[in-house]
Amino acid sequence: MHTIIEPFRIKMTEALPITTRSHRVARLAAAHNNVFLLDAEDITIDLLTDSGTGAMSERQWAALMLGDESYAGSMSWRRFEKTVREITGFKHIFPTHQGRAAERILAATRLKAGDIVPNNSHFDTTRANIEYVGAKALDVLTPEGQDIYSELRFKGNMDLARLEQIIKTKGSNNIPFCMITVTNNAGGGQPVSMENIRAVKQLLSKHRIPLVIDACRYAENSYFIKEYEPGFADHSLMDIANEMFQLADAATMSAKKDGLANIGGFFGCHDDQWAEDFRNLLILTEGFPTYGGLAGRDLEAIAVGLKEALEYDYQRYRHATVEYMASSLIARGVPIVRPAGGHAVFIDAAAFCPHLEPSDYPGIGLVNALYLEGGVRAVELGSVMFGRRLEGASEETAAPRELVRLAFPRRVYTQSHFDYVIEVLDLVWRRRDAILPYRITRQAPFLRHFTAHFALGETPAAFGA
Ligand SMILES: *Cc1c(COP(=O)(O)O)cnc(C)c1O
Repeated sequence: MHTIIEPFRIKMTEALPITTRSHRVARLAAAHNNVFLLDAEDITIDLLTDSGTGAMSERQWAALMLGDESYAGSMSWRRFEKTVREITGFKHIFPTHQGRAAERILAATRLKAGDIVPNNSHFDTTRANIEYVGAKALDVLTPEGQDIYSELRFKGNMDLARLEQIIKTKGSNNIPFCMITVTNNAGGGQPVSMENIRAVKQLLSKHRIPLVIDACRYAENSYFIKEYEPGFADHSLMDIANEMFQLADAATMSAKKDGLANIGGFFGCHDDQWAEDFRNLLILTEGFPTYGGLAGRDLEAIAVGLKEALEYDYQRYRHATVEYMASSLIARGVPIVRPAGGHAVFIDAAAFCPHLEPSDYPGIGLVNALYLEGGVRAVELGSVMFGRRLEGASEETAAPRELVRLAFPRRVYTQSHFDYVIEVLDLVWRRRDAILPYRITRQAPFLRHFTAHFALGETPAAFGA
């Protein structure tokens, strides 16, 4: 059979809000033109994020009932620990309430001001947590990975030559660890090859620098390795995941992604001192080390979800939905990041809106147009999320790319939902000249995209003008 179907049927439904344009116009204005500030009840198709938005399976719902809510040493913790160890092999495993909690504690315990942390591309929370302790987060993506339209596979790979250069010039003493993000969320959901992870590990070992995997989409990355990296076609996703984690000294994980859960995360490592320091801060801010800020039932749902994410039929279906959206948009001429990534389709908002400058935040204009046109919520990954004001500078520096992400919640939307999104995008694409510039009228010092207020810009302005 050529048709790849959803490898599940629907046991419970959830009504989708169908809204009018005038309603959406009013709601977006009330939300200060920032879709993060909209109420979910005003959104028809929510592609804001794939984080914690997935549908749990009946096996996960059943597992919730097994939740052991004992404060310390619960049975749920044991099942969680066993599953995480089976996948990652780490000696020490700590639950956290989500991925950024693991990142925060890792940064607080291992980094000091002036340190450097390379990564293929830091995710926004990872970068923010590193910068919060005064360290520097460096993106070390290959040149091919930065080329939006290159059709090469494994565009999430780390640039080994540049990494070596950074180690030589900055000194390994100033690099307490190096990270690699699988798949590379900020870079378009592009996977990292096993060969690249292995080479990074070899290079780091020579300089005694530990490797930390940002493992949020470890199962999707394993699927890409199986499908596209020579030598892995006969390996199970579990075997590939095992091999990947064997190369790591530690990992941070958000169970809201490939844990197929609505909340949760973990940190894993081999080093006893790392574990000791992590545990102490975990107790201070997250909870006792056998629950880490999660309910026993959450630990159960994650333990089941982590394994379901490694089921081949599930990953094949998931990838097919992303491919379907990507190829439909390419056929209509919409500029998107190629090839399709693991969890999302990324639109090149700069190419979509050539009449706008980065300082007009074309991604915000496109995101808002998608909402107004069809109640679809997407997210900007451009100069609002990644642009910054350098110290002493009066002007912002633009992000390297202006992207808009349509993220795919796991097991939530059907093909007709995606057909609807494609139609909305097609309408916006044909009227793209009408996409308007925006200005920031209010912002926070960190992660400003979540809470910023925007107003329509009168006249387009250029950065530095
Ligand atoms: C989501 C994500 C995180 C942060 O996880 P949260 O659970 O949202 O705190 C870190 N890194 C990557 C690559 C992610 O996608």
